[in-house]
Amino acid sequence: MAEPVVISGAGLAGSLLAVFLARRGYQVTLLERRPDMRRQRVAAGRSINLALAARGIVGLERAGLFEKLKPILVAMPGRMLHDPQGGTLYQQYSRHAHEFNWSASRATLNMALMDAAEATGGVEILFEQRVETYDYDRSTLLVHDTPKEATRHLPAPVVIATDGAGSPIRAAMVERFGVPCREEPLGHAYKELNIPAAADGGFRLAKDALHIWPRGGHMLIALPNPDGSFTVTLFMALASSHDGEPSFEELTTPAKLDAFFRAEFPDAVPLIPDLAYDFFDNPTGQLGTLRCARWAHGGQTLLLGDAAHALVPFHGQGMNCAFEDVVELDLELERRGANGVSSQSGNGTDWTEVFAAVERTRKPNADAIADMALENYVEMRDLVRDPRFHLTKKVEFLLEGALPGLFVPRYSMVMFHPEIPYAEAQRRGRIQAEVLAELTAGVAAPEQVDLARARAMLEARLK
Ligand code: FAD
Repeated sequence: MAEPVVISGAGLAGSLLAVFLARRGYQVTLLERRPDMRRQRVAAGRSINLALAARGIVGLERAGLFEKLKPILVAMPGRMLHDPQGGTLYQQYSRHAHEFNWSASRATLNMALMDAAEATGGVEILFEQRVETYDYDRSTLLVHDTPKEATRHLPAPVVIATDGAGSPIRAAMVERFGVPCREEPLGHAYKELNIPAAADGGFRLAKDALHIWPRGGHMLIALPNPDGSFTVTLFMALASSHDGEPSFEELTTPAKLDAFFRAEFPDAVPLIPDLAYDFFDNPTGQLGTLRCARWAHGGQTLLLGDAAHALVPFHGQGMNCAFEDVVELDLELERRGANGVSSQSGNGTDWTEVFAAVERTRKPNADAIADMALENYVEMRDLVRDPRFHLTKKVEFLLEGALPGLFVPRYSMVMFHPEIPYAEAQRRGRIQAEVLAELTAGVAAPEQVDLARARAMLEARLK
């Protein structure tokens, strides 16, 4: 008999996980609080396009989906920096042409993953079913059926929670077992805006880049969509402070908003025709980091994706990290030869072992990317305006070329090297940053860097 598994949340992680579990032979029920976005238009939710990088691609390839999805992706080999005078500077993300990120529509990706889950024949997706909580004593989920306005208890001995940052299952675990979970609000929030396609359907900004308008304490970014439009996101402090930085709290009227954009992002103003409408109509999204001491409770529940470790979005890794979590669970099942079949003698999957192993492997990596994502906010909004930063980037490329295998820029390790776990990228990145600071002290051009010294320092410290 196929072993039943319930997944709470048919978002990106939950839908991909359903594909893997069904292919192993499990009988999967996927509960989703929203209506089916393939049949009726629903708000896409936070951030309607995302940077897909190598770690996420590993998961999509494992599911046999990446090639099929390529038509809905736009390649982004670099970033385009926009200065306050309207000038631009293009920076390639990597010295290797094959290393780049993709811009992906969240909704399209999610729908494709749901289709793939259903196509396995082993997944039932139940929409408009909001999980309220998990009862650890009875091993049941309390589920609210929105259309029927009725609540029921669903037997669920094994539940995987991929229901995002507000996970009710995490809340139940925290409440019942006192698991320490820390939510660290960033104090900065985001707002989505839109640059529509040109009249002829073309792109109104360079298509092959993630555009950034870095302004110190705030920034605007834009990611391309296949239809010629760009999804724009403004990141800024939520409330006013004494540091003179602008905040969402201050932008209360269309006139104030217009003046702010003209002063800060003049070249973006003509590209966003519905600025005031988008700004005042779209919600202001909160950002923060979530760190939980435990993700698993016995063999009953496991948190994955944002439910376990919501990140700030500045390294573009939340979904990529969530897909890595899902792959790790599948690998753990593979290592144990689990085939999704339970027998009378109780030879089913040892979920306690599997969940504990996933938590052990993934948690240190999720903690590492959470830190690196916070650091990247400073880099994106601030450092990219600093000439020393550009010199350091050039030296990084130089070292990577001269010392292959010994030096890989941290950005590249995170985005393009899924074989290097996040925690290792963080460790190596710290050492490399020290070495770079020493090598570039008093140096005005990359050619002045002493390569022999660089090699000796890296070999000694990276061991
Ligand atoms: P979610 O995508 O949040 O999915 C959770 C699902 O569970 C949803 O379908 C939801 O409706 C459902 N659900 C919630 N509660 C319940 C309930 N009670 N019962 C049933 N169902 C429920 N990541 C990247 O990799 N690259 C990027 O460039 C990037 N940019 C981002 C930009 C912004 C502004 C933000 C906010 C995030 C960004 N992220 C990015 C992060 C990324 O969006 C998340 O990490 C990713 O969506 C996590 O996937 P998930 O499946 O774990 O959770």
